[in-house]
Amino acid sequence: AGKAEGKGQYRFFDPAQSNILKTRTQLRQRLLEAIDKRQFVLHYQPRVDTRTGELLSMEALLRWEHPQLGMIRPDEFIPLAESSGLIVPIGAIVIDQACAQLAAWRAHGAVPVPVSINVSPKQFLRGSVQRELEDALARHAVPAGLLEVEITESAMMGDQAEILAELAAIRALGVKLHVDDFGTGYSSLSQLQRMKMDVLKVDRSFTAELGRSREGTVFFQAIVSMAHALGMEVVAEGVENEEQLQILRALKCNEVQGYFVARPLPAAGIAPLLEQRYLFKEALAA
Ligand code: C2E
Ligand code: MG
Ligand code: MG
Ligand code: MG
Repeated sequence: AGKAEGKGQYRFFDPAQSNILKTRTQLRQRLLEAIDKRQFVLHYQPRVDTRTGELLSMEALLRWEHPQLGMIRPDEFIPLAESSGLIVPIGAIVIDQACAQLAAWRAHGAVPVPVSINVSPKQFLRGSVQRELEDALARHAVPAGLLEVEITESAMMGDQAEILAELAAIRALGVKLHVDDFGTGYSSLSQLQRMKMDVLKVDRSFTAELGRSREGTVFFQAIVSMAHALGMEVVAEGVENEEQLQILRALKCNEVQGYFVARPLPAAGIAPLLEQRYLFKEALAA
């Protein structure tokens, strides 16, 4: 199960094929087992400089490797993990694995780039994220500048005091903050600036509109210029073709992430990219 299907392609568990994870109690029980038996792995998806293709950072994306069911996507289990509170221990595993991997790359002489991890609002409400990050960085002797935290726009809505305080504490560690899936929630850019977010990741639904409609491109352009005016960098998520890349280059969007550049890969697949460093010279020459 979960075997590679060609370069960077993995076969994921298909929920339509089985209702084995359908009931809450079943899924919760299996998640508890997964925590206990360490069935979680991180894959890493490169983010590159839009102009040069230089590898600048990568996003850690959680996968559940079930011995019978195969590889399970986060969308299949994160919602229940959040509503049941299991996201707290799972989130701690993610933080620890990301730091362990950064330490391993450093130990093997690779010059690592920062890894960004996705953090759920439920983790913030527990108030333990800052301490977990600090502890994991110390445990693995990794500098804080190699870690970044992504929080979805919708999770930051409502100015919840606990979340704001914890974000500030995380930033004080030297960890950069990214707004994930920007454009799908209702935050204002000025609110994000007040919260001192460093990077805006524009949701892939907006990237998909590039080149399709004039409005789509104008909308993206407006986000880029406002974010830049407010001192934030912009990442386009879900870049799937060269046309989108060329438009993003013209819009001066700083970084791109998506299948056109690279799929999420297991750690072993990232090691050669750390050496190669530039991911799309071919596309540039084209
Ligand atoms: P996200 O943080 O917005 O991550 C980007 C998602 O888009 C990933 O899906 C990635 O594989 C996918 N993607 C990247 N490039 C492309 C592309 O060009 N086209 C398309 N169609 N998709 C692309 P994935 O890995 O299935 O993760 C889904 C979501 O699960 C993530 O969305 C994130 O919200 C959540 N997630 C992943 N890992 C974690 C984690 O460790 N903790 C928490 N709390 N949530 C996580
Ligand atoms: Mg993310
Ligand atoms: Mg996203
Ligand atoms: Mg998302």
